[in-house]
Amino acid sequence: MSTPAQSAAPPPATESTSLAATLPPSRSLSPNPFLVMAFLLLISLIGFGGYRASEYQGMQILRTDAGHRLDLFAAAVDGIVNRYAHIPATIQLNEEVLGVMQRTRHPGSIVAANRFLQRLNEHIGSIAIFVVNERGIVIASSNWGDPDNSFVGEDLSFRSYFLDGLAGRSGHHFAIGITRGEPGYFVSHPIRSGNRVVGVAVIKISLGQLDKAWDLLGAPALIADGNGVVILTSVPEWRYTALTPLPLDTRVDIKLSRLYNDGPIGDFPVSVNPDPGPEGQIVHMNLRSSSPGVPAVRGRPDVAGSYLVHGRGLQDVGWRLLIFSDLRPVRAQAFGHGALAAVATGFVLLLLLVVAQRRRIVRQKLEAKELLEQANAQLESKVARRTRALTDTNARLRKEVAERQQAEQTLRAAQDELVQAAKLAVLGQLAAGITHELAQPLGAMRTLSGNAVEFMKRGNLATVEQNLGIIARLADQMGRIITPLKTFARKSPAIPAPADLAHAVGAALFLLDQRLAKAGISVDNRLEAGQHIAWCDQNRLEQVLINLIRNAGDAMAESPLKTLQIDAVQLPDGSLELAIADSGCGLPADGALFEPFFTTKPAGEGLGLGLAISRDIVREFGGDLRAENRPEGGARFILNLPAAPKESP
Ligand code: ADP
Repeated sequence: MSTPAQSAAPPPATESTSLAATLPPSRSLSPNPFLVMAFLLLISLIGFGGYRASEYQGMQILRTDAGHRLDLFAAAVDGIVNRYAHIPATIQLNEEVLGVMQRTRHPGSIVAANRFLQRLNEHIGSIAIFVVNERGIVIASSNWGDPDNSFVGEDLSFRSYFLDGLAGRSGHHFAIGITRGEPGYFVSHPIRSGNRVVGVAVIKISLGQLDKAWDLLGAPALIADGNGVVILTSVPEWRYTALTPLPLDTRVDIKLSRLYNDGPIGDFPVSVNPDPGPEGQIVHMNLRSSSPGVPAVRGRPDVAGSYLVHGRGLQDVGWRLLIFSDLRPVRAQAFGHGALAAVATGFVLLLLLVVAQRRRIVRQKLEAKELLEQANAQLESKVARRTRALTDTNARLRKEVAERQQAEQTLRAAQDELVQAAKLAVLGQLAAGITHELAQPLGAMRTLSGNAVEFMKRGNLATVEQNLGIIARLADQMGRIITPLKTFARKSPAIPAPADLAHAVGAALFLLDQRLAKAGISVDNRLEAGQHIAWCDQNRLEQVLINLIRNAGDAMAESPLKTLQIDAVQLPDGSLELAIADSGCGLPADGALFEPFFTTKPAGEGLGLGLAISRDIVREFGGDLRAENRPEGGARFILNLPAAPKESP
């Protein structure tokens, strides 16, 4: 059965369990993979967007810059080419020249015409100035004096500028000279005599100055003539290549007019649109790093890269000027900007993440604090409730303890009363024997005192004195009979003290002496004084012994052999064992001997309380009482008692 205190005790696990249940689960701080993916995707997108925006802007700047450079270069080309374009028209104004063409002058005039052309050429600094008759033969030329290079006598009837001039219009185009293979820009004009074209005046202008102007562009560039063939370029290997495959009729024309002195026309390294439009065209190709405008890379002759091609027409001459702007710096810068944008985005996102995380942690802490406070308040109210319950239980327990103590006291008093009653019952049973014991000396005292009176009357005082002496002895004898009875009947509390077993047995036997003698029982008391000192109350022990000896006497009433044997031993554990053995009928077979009110004796003789009270008395001293049958017949009752401490007297 559980006590109220046990049932009211708080289950220790419940508080912590309920507290844990109310607290929010701690959220994991490990990053969400989807969030990380989205994070990386956003960074990549912004990085890519930054790259594209920067690239676009860089290309815009590149376009504007290329446009300016092209304009500048076009102006330079225009200056060089057009500076002398009007010269052929003025040659017919010279009379020697005109006369030579009209064949109206004598041969000496040719020399004069040659000299004029030579002076003119030297004056303006062109490559050559010459005149051609209507059959295409050079009649006079500025370089007439140089036999190796003189054009005089050359047949130039295949040249376009001649045919244009013969047709009465001005002609001009790039061509490679057939005498020395020197490239130049030819401008022609018809020489008229009246309305008739009698010849063609031609000037060959050097384009060498343009080679010095490539640096103005700061990037690889080229000039393609009307056929799409590169005639001038800052990249030597591009020279005399066709930007786009040449159609057959163009090839035939080129062949006929020997524009490029029958040299091979190669293909441009990549396909380039001669008119790439305002947006330009992006091409990928290798360029020799020694070319102007191409960044040098150590240890690498070729630089592969992307180039933005812009073009511009040179209206007067019908050429196209193309510039190849390197896209690598733009892309490198765009890459830098993209990376910067990505890093900045990453930083901002991280910052936002950290702020969000911090706010979440603070919120969680606040929630946890709030919950903790709630849990604490709950706990406190529970503790208060439990404390109240415990206080109530405590008070109830104290009351119960007091009641139990009271009950115990009452029980003890009742037990004492019972013991006393049992004692008195024994005394009652002993009364007949005692009365008999006292009757005899009393009768003798009566007779002796009567005699003493008679002897006193007779004056026999000696006999009176003798009688009085006997009476005094008899009174002492009666006193000795009564004193143990008084001691036994005394109502005393059970206080343990050293008690000699031999004394206790002697006192019990004395009280039962008459009864035992009358029953013809021989007593074999083997106890010796001072041998076995038990720790108990002697008076109570005597009561137990009287019970046991009296029962033994009763059991031997019908036995032919009536022997009572009393012995004591000390056990190895130090306790004492006192055995009272009889030769009686033995213990009843089904008897619960020590149960109260168990008796086999006839009504009026036994109450069945003796053994029950005796065992209680012995147990109160920390001992025990048990019974057994003896093998030779009869019963043995064994009293186990604690021995008195050694130091006790
Ligand atoms: P009572 O003597 O009033 O019967 P007890 O409690 O003293 O009560 O004894 C209970 C019973 O135990 C007795 O009636 C008897 O049957 C049995 N008994 C006690 N002592 C002995 C003994 N020495 N030998 C045989 N039986 C005994």
